Amino acid sequence: MRRKLVVGNWKMHGSRAENAKLLSELWRALPAPQHVDVAVCPPFVYLTTVREQLIGSAFKLGAQNVSAADPGAITGEVAATMLSDCGCDFVIVGHSERRQLFGESDEQVAQKTAIALRYGLMPIVCVGETLTEREAGKTLDVIARQLDAVFTSLSTAELHRIVVAYEPVWAIGTGRTATPEQAQEVHAFIRQRLLRYDAAQVQILYGGSVKAGNAQALFAQIDIDGGLIGGASLNAEEFAAICKAAE
Ligand code: PEP
Repeated sequence: MRRKLVVGNWKMHGSRAENAKLLSELWRALPAPQHVDVAVCPPFVYLTTVREQLIGSAFKLGAQNVSAADPGAITGEVAATMLSDCGCDFVIVGHSERRQLFGESDEQVAQKTAIALRYGLMPIVCVGETLTEREAGKTLDVIARQLDAVFTSLSTAELHRIVVAYEPVWAIGTGRTATPEQAQEVHAFIRQRLLRYDAAQVQILYGGSVKAGNAQALFAQIDIDGGLIGGASLNAEEFAAICKAAE
């Protein structure tokens, strides 16, 4: 039985004061999650403070991005060693905003996944099609390409230490969610692909306008093991309700 996982991606939001408030409200709303793992991914500059605030809670910590390179003369980048040093458990790689706004390629996503694993982080590998790709009937081809770019360079042991997040680009931050059936269809495809690599037990999260009101129906799908939550993770009550739906 795969354990459920819910991850809040705070994106480029928050301040020290807002983060502290959000976490204390979240802790109050969700004091001891039992059957679900919960993580929050603040911006880099807040990782250390948030780590300290999470002491004594069950919540885990993740970063939103990582450099594909080892530490060195690369201005503005953050290395996987540094994320481990700051107490991160997870790192999101290949988020569609990184792919679209910063031109991150499948190869770079594969490199970031590999380096995250090397330094003890669990990469959350995001894949997803655009609306144009979906309407052209290319969804599964796109997902297969994005997955294979990462999977082929990893050993089976490494594959067991990743999480996959299916995030249809057209559903991110748009309020438009994939129906549970649409999401399950792609999740089942991803599970089949993982089977080829002997890694069918990998957790597959769904992301894209998940809210308290639609979480339960999505998480009830057989191949949906939790969620990667953007906007709704900034509201403690909403995020706690999503985590409870996963439980
Ligand atoms: C995301 O950014 O990973 C995401 C799923 O965003 P939202 O929940 O706001 O659609």
